[in-house]
Amino acid sequence: MDKITDMIQTIDHWATHDADRIVYQSETQTFTYGDLKKQSDSVAAYLLNHVSEEGPIVVYGGQEFEMLATFVGCSKAGRAYIPIETHTPQERLSMIIDVAKPALIIYMDQWVDLKTEAPVIQMSTIPSANLDSYPGLSDDDTYYIIFTSGTTGVPKGVQISHGNLKSFVNWELNDFHLNEGERFLSQAPFSFDLSVMSLYPALALGGSLAPLTKETINDFKKLFEVLPTMNLNVWVSTPSFMDICLMEPTFDSKHNPTITHFLFCGEELPRQTAIKLKERFPEAYLYNTYGPTEATVAVTRINVTEQVLEDFNRIPIGYAKEDTKIIIMDDNLNPLPAGEMGEIIIVGPSVSKGYLHNEAKTKEAFFEYEGERAYHTGDAGRLTEDGLLLYGGRMDFQIKLHGYRMELEDIDHHLNEVSYISQAAAVPKYKDGKVQQLIAYVVPKDNPFEKDYQLTKAIKQELAETVMDYMIPQRFIYVDHLALTQNGKIDRKGLINEVNNG
Ligand code: AMP
Repeated sequence: MDKITDMIQTIDHWATHDADRIVYQSETQTFTYGDLKKQSDSVAAYLLNHVSEEGPIVVYGGQEFEMLATFVGCSKAGRAYIPIETHTPQERLSMIIDVAKPALIIYMDQWVDLKTEAPVIQMSTIPSANLDSYPGLSDDDTYYIIFTSGTTGVPKGVQISHGNLKSFVNWELNDFHLNEGERFLSQAPFSFDLSVMSLYPALALGGSLAPLTKETINDFKKLFEVLPTMNLNVWVSTPSFMDICLMEPTFDSKHNPTITHFLFCGEELPRQTAIKLKERFPEAYLYNTYGPTEATVAVTRINVTEQVLEDFNRIPIGYAKEDTKIIIMDDNLNPLPAGEMGEIIIVGPSVSKGYLHNEAKTKEAFFEYEGERAYHTGDAGRLTEDGLLLYGGRMDFQIKLHGYRMELEDIDHHLNEVSYISQAAAVPKYKDGKVQQLIAYVVPKDNPFEKDYQLTKAIKQELAETVMDYMIPQRFIYVDHLALTQNGKIDRKGLINEVNNG
C-alpha cells in the first residue's frame, strides 16, 4: 500500500471519490464519508474564522460520530485536539484544562458545570460551512494530545505529531494484512490511545468504525446480541476485554464469521487468552502489539501462530516496525547484547516530542539517541538474536488494570487528599501475572463511622470526584500505621509481597 503523506488528504480522498461510502455505523445511525467531510469542514471553518487564540482544542464526548468529525475538523484547521471522555471526573478534567490551556472546548451532548477561561461550544450548534482550502498540519505539528496518569497526581499530556501518527498508521496499513474498506471495532474510549489503532487505519482504508458503547459493554446479554450484527472485520481491544468476551460460548467464528483480524495492545496478552481465541477463530490473524502512548500506540507486533504458542510460555511482544529501533539498555544507558534483560528504549519517528507544558517530565523520559528521538519505557525486556522482543514486566509502579494505565503514586496522591485518610498506599494484587484487584492500605483519621464498610463507602465517594472510576481501589484495608523503608518511604514492595505471597 502507498505510504500516506497527509492524513487529512487521505481521509478526504474517500469523500471526493465515493461520498456515499459508510464511515460509521452504530445500532441506530449510519454516516458516510460525505457526512464526515461536511461536518469536519464546518468545524474547521468555525475554528479558522472564530478562534484566534493559540492552543489545542478539547473535544469532550463518547463514541459518537461527531467526535470523529470534530477531530478531523481540528486537524484541517491546523489545531491539535485533546479527546476527553464524558466519564472523566470534574477535578481531573479541570487539571487537564489547567495544563493544556485550550483555545476552545467542543462538547457533544453535555458539558459539565466547570468554569474555564476557554470558550465552550456544543458541536451541534456549529453552523454548516464550506471550506475551499485549509492550512492542515505539517509533520512536526501536534496532531493530538492524550493525557495519561502522572506520578504526582497531575495527568501528563502526550503530544503526538502528524509525523508520529503517519509512522504508526503506515505500519498498520502495511504490516497487518489489512484491506480496503475493513470494518473496525471502536470500543476503546478516544481518550485512550488504543482507539487510534482503529480510528486512523479505518479512515485511511476507506473503512468504517462500529462503536460499542459503555452501556452495551456493561450489559452482557445485549453485548452478545449486538456483536454478531456489527459485521466486524478487525477487532481492536485490550486482552482484558477479550477475556470478558471469551466467557460467552457463542463468541466464535460461527456466530461472528466476518472477523478476520484480532489486534491487541495495552497490556500483556495471556497465553491462555490466545489459545482460547485460536480455538474459537482458527482462521483469523491474531496480533499481539506493544507500545506506550508516548511512542504512538504501538511499535512492535507479532502474529501469534500455533508455532509461537508452542515455542513460548510467555507470548513475545514482537518485532519492531521498520522505521523504529528497540534497544535494551542498562541503568547507565549502555546498550545490552541480545539475551540480556534491561530497559526497553524505543528510538524512531513515532516517538513523541514530549509532554505538553511539562519540560521536567519530558526531560526525564525522552532523549536523543544517535540523532533520533528516544523514549524510556520503564518496561523491562530482552531481545532474541533475530530481534524478537520479550516482555519482562514493569520496572516501576505503573500498572495496568483492565487495560487502563495508571501510576500507583497517582492513586496514592489522591487517596491522601481524601478527608478521612491520614496516610495510604495503593497495592496491586496479581493473578497469573496480571493485576486482578487494587487494594488500598489506609491509616484512617478519626471519623464518625461505626463500621469499616461505611468509611469505605465515604472514601470511595470522595475519591470518585478526583480519579477515573477504574483507579478506585476495590478493597480497603485499615491499619494503624504503614511500614516504612530505610529511606523513610512507605514500603510498597513489602505491601505488594504481603498481598501476593502472604
Ligand atoms: P499505554 O500508554 O496506556 O498504551 O500503556 C503503555 C504500557 O502498557 C507499556 O509501557 C507496557 O507496560 C504496557 N503494554 C502495552 N502493550 C503491552 C503488551 N502487548 N504486553 C505487555 N505490556 C504491554
